[in-house]
Amino acid sequence: MTKKPSGKCPLCGGNKKQGKTTFTVDLGFGIVIVGDVPATVCSQCGADWIEDAASSR
Ligand SMILES: [Zn+2]
Repeated sequence: MTKKPSGKCPLCGGNKKQGKTTFTVDLGFGIVIVGDVPATVCSQCGADWIEDAASSR
């Protein structure tokens, strides 16, 4: 995942805020849904960026 400077949403220019999201991982034999993943969430369009520490696992 490309690291972008935090601050503004690249999609809509809205403000990003700390929040939580639901993350779906396809492991090949099935899909695992991980909830309550710490992420940066756009308060305007709802786009989310999962933090590196969480996505590496
Ligand atoms: Zn946005």
